[in-house]
Parts: sequence; structure tokens; C-alpha cells
Amino acid sequence: MLDARIPPGPIEQNWDKCRFDMKLVNPANRRKHSIIVVGSGLAGAAAAATLGQQGYRVQCFSYHDTPRRAHSIAAQGGINAAKNYRNDGDSIFRLFYDTVKGGDFRSREANVYRLATVSLNIIDQCVAQGVPFAREYGGLLDTRSFGGVQVQRTFYARGQTGQQLLLGAYQALEEQLAAGTVTMHIRSELLDVVIVDGRARGIVTRDLVTGRITSHAADVVVLATGGYSNVFYLSTNAKACNCTAIWRAHRRGALFANPCFTQIHPTCIPLSSEHQSKLTLMSESLRNDGRVWVPKKKGETRAPEDIPENERDYYLERRYPSFGNLVPRDVASRNAKEVCDEGRGVGPSGQGVYLDFADAIQRLGLPTVREKYGNLFDIYERITGEDAYAVPMRIYPAPHYTMGGLWVDYHLMSTISELFVAGEANFSDHGANRLGASALMQGLADGYFVLPATVPDYLATTKLEPLDTSHPTFAAAKDDVGQRIEKLLEVKGNRSPDSFHKELGKLMWDECGMARSEAGLRKALARIPELREEFWHNLRIVGGGEELNQSLEKANRISDFLELAELMCIDALDRKESCGGHFRVESQTPEGEAKRDDANFSYSAAWEWKGLDQAPVLHKEPLTFEYVHLAQRSYK
Ligand SMILES: Cc1cc2nc3c(=O)[nH]c(=O)nc-3n(C[C@H](O)[C@H](O)[C@H](O)COP(=O)(O)OP(=O)(O)OC[C@H]3O[C@@H](n4cnc5c(N)ncnc54)[C@H](O)[C@@H]3O)c2cc1C
Repeated sequence: MLDARIPPGPIEQNWDKCRFDMKLVNPANRRKHSIIVVGSGLAGAAAAATLGQQGYRVQCFSYHDTPRRAHSIAAQGGINAAKNYRNDGDSIFRLFYDTVKGGDFRSREANVYRLATVSLNIIDQCVAQGVPFAREYGGLLDTRSFGGVQVQRTFYARGQTGQQLLLGAYQALEEQLAAGTVTMHIRSELLDVVIVDGRARGIVTRDLVTGRITSHAADVVVLATGGYSNVFYLSTNAKACNCTAIWRAHRRGALFANPCFTQIHPTCIPLSSEHQSKLTLMSESLRNDGRVWVPKKKGETRAPEDIPENERDYYLERRYPSFGNLVPRDVASRNAKEVCDEGRGVGPSGQGVYLDFADAIQRLGLPTVREKYGNLFDIYERITGEDAYAVPMRIYPAPHYTMGGLWVDYHLMSTISELFVAGEANFSDHGANRLGASALMQGLADGYFVLPATVPDYLATTKLEPLDTSHPTFAAAKDDVGQRIEKLLEVKGNRSPDSFHKELGKLMWDECGMARSEAGLRKALARIPELREEFWHNLRIVGGGEELNQSLEKANRISDFLELAELMCIDALDRKESCGGHFRVESQTPEGEAKRDDANFSYSAAWEWKGLDQAPVLHKEPLTFEYVHLAQRSYK
């Protein structure tokens, strides 16, 4: 039975009580403890900087050439916090409620309540760091709305919120690098986690420039390695994002929770060619002012400006009058797919809907719209060649975020002792659908506030045997990594890593994407092992192992995607209900909304690895809802 270690007592007091009960490490003793943090995105940089500031010896690893290039930099729209600066009815409880409901009642109440509580501290912390959040004329911090809520609680820095927050975290990290508490290892990719006596005591990395494989020991390991949307090949994530760190930890014993819970974001620039390798997000913030519509007539060929108002279907406003264009992402995505499947999609492929700013420009004036969203309009024009101030944007859903990840308890510890997991890499707070602007909030909550309390508690209460990389387990893990690299290089077949990735991604999009059926999932489950088999017999990597070799890097990561994809489909098949972004076509309401089955599926599914040819074992963490009433989600 999984023990989430939720502190007893009223939910409003859980975190305070937990912090008080946790043991502290005397400042003079902190430097005796070493911590490995893998990842220097928002979650990892925040954790490394804060633990360094507390006085621990931190080693931080990233495959990027600088922490500033972590994928967090791409976040556009904003970060939520229950500050209630607008006095529009917001509160910690409302943020908590919105998040549990938005996640379709598949998240752990205690974690979400803590997240909502800590959200207040995050904004203060970032403002103190100098993060240039947008301000109103009078100097107060400005906010806007995101999907699934009826208040304005999203703080933002134009369309570059992630970049500005990351610069704040990076400054804090740099300060600790200069102070000598944190050592940064760039261009170093984690390829294995070293487990000694059931505890995570180190990692094995490959230097991406020289190919050198080394191991590193510590008292505690933190993974903050981001999400796995690139399993779909085409996604809004940076091309390098991958699942290797969490997957290799999973193979070493960490349970993987809700792998099938993936988020398809409704507002991305539609695919324009078969050869495209990346999709671009248009931030959800645009739905504050942009109106989504398609022509009423199927097969419409007129330009948008020639279609009169009464021949347009503002389908979100029509179907969900309370939330309108700001329904949550899963709902907006499914509706876009539905109108396109009906033959009412727009653009050359018919896989698109309009996001129209004409009303907003008339109401607010062009300069205001430009000031709020200018850089997003620029990105759109650069990619499509169209001026979205003059014609509506075209958008279509695309893979964007993964709510699944390594299972963690309330302390953010995985099922491997001493292995903590933060940010998008864990499964913790978003249930079956993440609300917009809540990932940055969670990553920073984990990094700045949760881990700096729970990791020290662990260090203070655990007797750790002194250990270094001369321990035989490190040599064995290093050998395993070396052999896997050799095996990849030795295949010498005919297909490029990308061609396997593309085929896997299409299969996942078709069968485990926006809609999932038993037949489709079974088809994918039959094909994935065949594709994996072919990969290991027909892969072609150019170049060698002891040099900068991106073909090898990709192949190594794809080998993990080929295993994770199978678990995603197993999980999706097993969860016969629909919930949030997981839409089983067999389980829908008469209006076509996701239909949950609380009697049978009110749990987080945590899977145990048993080997490549063995079925994984399902462990369940039952979810109980004491504070938020279980109900069919409605945004009407
Ligand atoms: C286009 C886009 C826009 C978004 N906009 C928003 C938004 O407006 N608001 C919001 O709340 N969320 C947004 N999100 C989601 C949010 O950006 C991410 O969920 C969040 O930034 C993830 O942060 P992270 O620290 O967990 O991971 P990342 O930022 O992905 O960092 C991962 C780190 O781990 C390192 N790493 C990974 N694997 C390894 C390995 N094997 N070895 C060594 N290092 C490794 C990387 O080098 C990197 O440093 C957006 C996402 C996208 C794709």
C-alpha cells in the first residue's frame, strides 16, 4: 500500500504542522551533507539555489550548456497565485478548489492545498528577486485570467513569464555558485540512478561533449528533469526534452504514476508540413481576449473576413456560457477536435480553428492588444507569415504537458528512499488535467519551498553510511550505461533515430492522444514492441561514442520513449473511465464530455517496472475528497 505521508489534521494546518514536526539540520552541520540536483529549470534551479543557500553542498547537473536554456524558459502566459489583489473573490481555498476540479478530481487534496498556500510566497520571492512582472499604471502587479477559473490570478511578464522567472532562479543559483555551495555540471546527462541498500546514493552521467561516463555520489538525489510530451514527437516542448532521467529511475524501482495523463493544449500553431519536427504554442493568455470560432458551414472556402457574424459558430461561448473561451484546456481541445472532425475546420489542412482578436482590438485599441500580447503575435507572424492583428490566428491542439510522472509522497519523495522528484517530472498536483499557469507555480513551490523543508528533514532523521563512488554498485551502474551506449552504436542498421521517433509519435498521437479507445490502444500495444524490436536491430547512428554526437543522444532518449510509450498505453487501457485529458471514447456523457467513474477509478495509478518482457504491476493510491465535493465537472 502506498503511503502518501499526509500529515493528519485539518487541511489548512497540514503544511505548517508538517514543517514544525520536521527535523532541522544545525547550520554548522549542513556542509557535511551533499545533495545532487538533476535539472536546472525552474524546479531544479530553485531547489539547488535554496539548498545551497541553506549551506548544503549541492551538485547540480543539466544536459544544457547553461541553466538559462532549460525548457522553463519557453513558458509564456503566466503563473498563478491566490493573492486576490483584484479583490474579485479569490482565496487560497478557491485556488485549491479550482485546481482539484480542473484536474477532474484525480489529484491529492493535501498537496494541492499546500500548493495554493505556497503560491503567495512565490510571488513575493520572485518580486524580491527583481522578476519584472507586468504592472498596472499605478504600479501594482497586474493579473489576467487563465482557463478553468473565474478570477484573475495569473501574474505575468508579457508573453515571457518563464524566461523572467528562470532568470530570477538563475541569479539565485549563480549567487550560490559564486559562494561555492553549488557546483554546476553542464552538458552532463544523467543516464542512471545508483541505488545502494535501497537508497538513491548517486547518479551516472555522460559528458555530452567528450562522451566520458562518470559517476557521482551524494546523500540525497533530486530529479527535476521536466516532462515527457516529446513521446509524441511533435509537441510544444523543446526538442531535447525527454524522459530518460525519470524512466531510468523507474527501471531502478521508482513507481511511475498516471503515465497516460497528458495534456493537449488547444492553442498551438497548426502543423503545416509532414516534415515539421516541432510545434509552437500560442499562449492560453490569448484566450482572455481572443474569440474562438469556426464557420457554421462544412467545407467553407471563404476567407474569415468574408464570413458574416451570423454564419460563424463561437462554439465555446455557445456551449459553455459561464466560462466561454476560458474553459480548461482539455475541454477546449476536445471541442476543437470535434468541430474539425465535423468538417468545419479551417486552414489548408482543415485542422484548425480561428482565434480572433477583431473585437478586442475594437474594444481596447491596437496599442493595448500589442502591449499585452505583442511578442506572441510576432512569433505567429514569423511562423505563418500572417498578421494576426488583421486576420484571425489559426490554432489547433498539440501535446504540451505531462501530468503523469514519478510517484511522490507529500514530502516529494519517490518510492526509492532518498530520491526526491520536483516540477513536471513528478506526478503530484494536477490530477488528470493541469490548469494554465499552474506548472510554474508548482515547479517553484517544489523548488523554493517544499524540498528545502523536506530534504533537510530527511537528512536530519536518517543515518547515512559514508559512501563514495568506489562502492561496487557505482562501477556496475557505470558499466551498464557504457554497455547500453555500445549496444546502440553497434546496431549499424538503416533507419535514423528520428524516423523511429516520428513513427512512435504518430502512433501515440493517433491512439493515445486526444481520444483513446480500447481498440486503438490495443493496436498501439501490439505495434510498440515491434517498433522497439526493429529499433534495436535496424537503428543507424552516425559518429562515435567519445565525441559530441547528437544522433547518439537522440537514439538513447528514444530507446526510453519506446518503453515509456508502452506503459502509457497500458495505463490508458486500464483506466476505463474518462477524466480530464484522458478521454476514453467509451466513457462520455450524452453531451460528449469526459465521464468519470469514481466508484472504480478514484485513485492514482502507480506502476512498478518488472522488466522489459514482463507486465508492470499496478499499485493504487486511493484518492479521498473531504474538502472538495466530487461532482461531474461543468463549465456551462
Ligand atoms: C511552450 C510552453 C509554454 C508554457 N507556458 C507556461 C505558462 O505560461 N505557465 C505555466 O505555469 N506553465 C507553462 N508551461 C509549462 C512549464 O513551462 C513547464 O511545466 C515547467 O517549466 C517545467 O519546469 P521544470 O523545472 O520541471 O523542467 P524543465 O524546465 O524542463 O527543466 C528540466 C531540466 O532538467 C534537465 N534534464 C532533463 N533530463 C536530464 C538528464 N537526463 N540529465 C541531466 N539533466 C537533465 C534539463 O537540462 C533542464 O535543466 C509551458 C510549457 C510549454 C511547452
